[in-house]
Amino acid sequence: MSDVYDLHCHSTASDGALAPADVVRRAHARGVTVLALTDHDTVAGQSEARATAEQLGLHYVNGIELSALYANQCLHIIGLDIDTDHPALLEGLEHQHALRAQRAMQIAGKLQAKGIAGAYDAVSQVAGRGEITRLHFADFLVKHGVVTDTQDAFDRYLSKGKPGYVATQWAEMTDVIAWIRSAGGIAVMAHPLRYKLSHKWMNRALAAFKAAGGMGVEVVTGRATVDEIRLSQQFAVRHKLHASVGSDFHTPDLPWIELGRLPPMPPGLTPVWQLFRGS
Ligand code: AMP
Ligand code: MN
Ligand code: MN
Ligand code: MN
Repeated sequence: MSDVYDLHCHSTASDGALAPADVVRRAHARGVTVLALTDHDTVAGQSEARATAEQLGLHYVNGIELSALYANQCLHIIGLDIDTDHPALLEGLEHQHALRAQRAMQIAGKLQAKGIAGAYDAVSQVAGRGEITRLHFADFLVKHGVVTDTQDAFDRYLSKGKPGYVATQWAEMTDVIAWIRSAGGIAVMAHPLRYKLSHKWMNRALAAFKAAGGMGVEVVTGRATVDEIRLSQQFAVRHKLHASVGSDFHTPDLPWIELGRLPPMPPGLTPVWQLFRGS
């Protein structure tokens, strides 16, 4: 039997709906055999995920999704097979955590100015000890009937240029890659087509990513179409990057984005898991 990989998903350690152990159980029940939980800017869910995976006999790979800046644009960099105790990584995560906490207050302040009260307390309560993301704010706006759905929340309030948007000084991409590499991990450019950047721009970002030590690019993601997979494949080939696969699962409420439910990796690419330690 060949392995089923899912190397990008979220838990309550950031903006996912399920606890780390429940993400692992769900992945296992859906046939995933190699899993990385990749919460936004935190490794808080890693030990719980690994312990559950070990009980179930599922191969677990430590993971994270870091927010990074390249030329003032926010990009998401996945770190795989990282040492979650490495001091350089943990120091970097403290910086990211402080930014997220401060930004949450600023977003709430901006919503308040638009007459939408109580966002900070509500998202803090839902996030608990997990990292607060814009998805928490989107859920809040939906719940209170301010917007119709998550996309509407981003379109009207949370995206760049909208009243609830706060520009954030995430760490530079080169620094984020350096943290991942010091922690013995592999840096992967997440969902290259989701930034709505031109191909020329993305090619420039990927060249800088590779020059800084980046090793992989996500080629297969949850809802990717045949055309999108072909374009991402071209990025991998052009920049000689290893190819990764990940659903970006957040919640059972969106059944079309499910753990392990991924189109096949196109032939001719070198999978990122060839770089994992012990493989
Ligand atoms: P943040 O890292 O705090 O800026 O939040 C980004 C998160 O918000 C992403 O990881 C997604 O979970 C979610 N997100 C961003 N844009 C959208 C969108 N258009 N629709 C649904 N979720 C989104
Ligand atoms: Mn998210
Ligand atoms: Mn992302
Ligand atoms: Mn993600």
